[in-house]
Amino acid sequence: MKIMVAIKRVVDYAVKIRVKPDKSGVETQNVKMSMNPFCEIALEEALRIKESGIASEVVAVSMGPSHCIDTIRTGLAMGADRGIHVEYLNALYPLSVAKLLKALVDVEKPGLLILGKQAIDDDCNQTGQMIAGLLKWPQGTFASKVVLDMEKQSAIVDREVDGGIETLCLDLPAVITTDLRLNQPRYATLPNIMKAKSKAIKKYTPQDLNVDIRRDLEVVHVTEPPKRKAGVMLSSVNELIDKLKNEARII
Ligand code: AMP
Repeated sequence: MKIMVAIKRVVDYAVKIRVKPDKSGVETQNVKMSMNPFCEIALEEALRIKESGIASEVVAVSMGPSHCIDTIRTGLAMGADRGIHVEYLNALYPLSVAKLLKALVDVEKPGLLILGKQAIDDDCNQTGQMIAGLLKWPQGTFASKVVLDMEKQSAIVDREVDGGIETLCLDLPAVITTDLRLNQPRYATLPNIMKAKSKAIKKYTPQDLNVDIRRDLEVVHVTEPPKRKAGVMLSSVNELIDKLKNEARII
């Protein structure tokens, strides 16, 4: 079985986000970019499934400008066998990503498609659900445990839901999106970084895949969250209780 993993290049999680002066988005020039953390977890899970002998190949896909190749190389250094880059210079929104992924699934025919539950730049949390809808495949979102049963051609997925864990049994092929507790992604070792340089990355454009990228969604503006007021030091518990009662009025 082949596993396809969608990995997005985003502003590194440790970078302090700055909004562009014209409020059209966040600053990405001269900012450290990395693989979206949930996508690292998705790739790690695919690699573990391959290492368990269930999958034969892991293909990492990223869409966006040419710098996405760096993210794909990181994925190849973690252990993916091949990369696919769909080059597109402008912003891509979840429905377009899902349509491009569907076209790639039609070409590659994976038995499992794993995505992050959300990209930490746009926080959309939509692409996995949309691609499952387009493919008419079952979906297990927010996965915290995945067990494959190849005899039954199914995946048992634990999902993190409010107040507990929901366990689903999905027929394969299926779409899974990853939550934080699914695994701890590995670091790429130096020999694997070197090996990754010779792994193949196939390039497509949306036109090659017959996908028309329509801009039916526009970001009107992006603003920073309001600044938090400075805290105050109180001298006693009695003063705290007084403030909670008479200022905050929460007790
Ligand atoms: P989102 O719906 O934008 O929050 O993204 C959810 C997941 O979809 C991400 O964690 C990725 O697995 C995948 N994804 C979204 N955009 C891209 C992209 N441009 N390239 C590759 N994968 C993507």
